[in-house]
Amino acid sequence: MQCDVAIIGGSYAGLSAAMMLARGRRDVVILDTRAPRNRFASHSHGFFGQDGAAPRTMLETGRAKVLAYPTVRWLPDAATEARGGDNAFQVVTGEHGTITARKVVLAYGVSDVLPQIPGLAERWGKTVVHCPYCHGYELEGPQSVLAVAPMSAHQAMLITEWGPTTLFANGVAFDEATLAELARKGVTVEQARVTAIKDEATVCLEDGRALRMSSMYVATSVKPNSSIGAQLGCTTEEGRFGPYLRTDAMRATTVPGVFAAGDIIRDMHNATFASADGVMAGASAHRELVFGAM
Ligand SMILES: Cc1cc2nc3c(=O)[nH]c(=O)nc-3n(C[C@H](O)[C@H](O)[C@H](O)COP(=O)(O)OP(=O)(O)OC[C@H]3O[C@@H](n4cnc5c(N)ncnc54)[C@H](O)[C@@H]3O)c2cc1C
Repeated sequence: MQCDVAIIGGSYAGLSAAMMLARGRRDVVILDTRAPRNRFASHSHGFFGQDGAAPRTMLETGRAKVLAYPTVRWLPDAATEARGGDNAFQVVTGEHGTITARKVVLAYGVSDVLPQIPGLAERWGKTVVHCPYCHGYELEGPQSVLAVAPMSAHQAMLITEWGPTTLFANGVAFDEATLAELARKGVTVEQARVTAIKDEATVCLEDGRALRMSSMYVATSVKPNSSIGAQLGCTTEEGRFGPYLRTDAMRATTVPGVFAAGDIIRDMHNATFASADGVMAGASAHRELVFGAM
């Protein structure tokens, strides 16, 4: 199968890239395994014009709009490998053979690595969350932050904007200055280790106490969903939460002909950024098809 651009990942970033290329009348193949990062949440917030929509609905609508263009093909399949160079890439798929493409857009997203605490994973995206802008407005009541690193103190201080906050240190040490700042912001710090999460977001502690909370914030670390960026030789940066691919303002990676967008290229993640990155990556890939490398 041949195309102008192969897009790996068909969510906020990948579909936005596809839209630019479709409107440029280019042949596009989108590969997608249908596991967007926010699939655990029932509602998505903060996306322009879509606040409160279900992620599944947003993506189904986005996919239908893109697939209305006749030059776009959608394969519900994984890209397992990619090789080659500018104007001659080969993308190997799980079930659809090898795709040859002149340009590649990487948009395969990241996965959250959750702390191993009984009851936490089951509540992920519901009452255990990472982003107050995504969930904070709806999650009323006593809130908590599970510390995973010293920077969790800053998360706890920010969260006070949404309500009373307890920081569970869970073995993370905070210096005196940070503890004083937390106290000034009104954050309660609990030193006993967390053993489980139950009910809504009640936090069970090693000393037998169970503190009723309505939400728990945790800054997860993330890992890319695929090694294809690395396989192609794209340079990686180390971010606060995990590695990401280096891109320039045009969303070109360090490898000619390879563009990237979404959570895999940035330290701060949300659907709007991912979509905006995708628009830029798609338009940049199109411009290179027209003018050659810029
Ligand atoms: C619980 C939770 C709630 C969130 N809520 C919000 C919110 O309310 N508002 C907001 O703006 N942001 C929210 N986010 C963040 C948002 O989900 C991400 O920023 C956004 O999904 C990133 O888009 P993306 O296109 O880069 O990646 P993703 O949406 O993760 O999509 C990547 C796609 O690539 C596919 N894929 C992966 N590997 C391959 C492969 N090898 N081959 C083919 N396809 C592949 C996946 O199946 C997936 O469909 C939330 C995140 C979480 C974890």
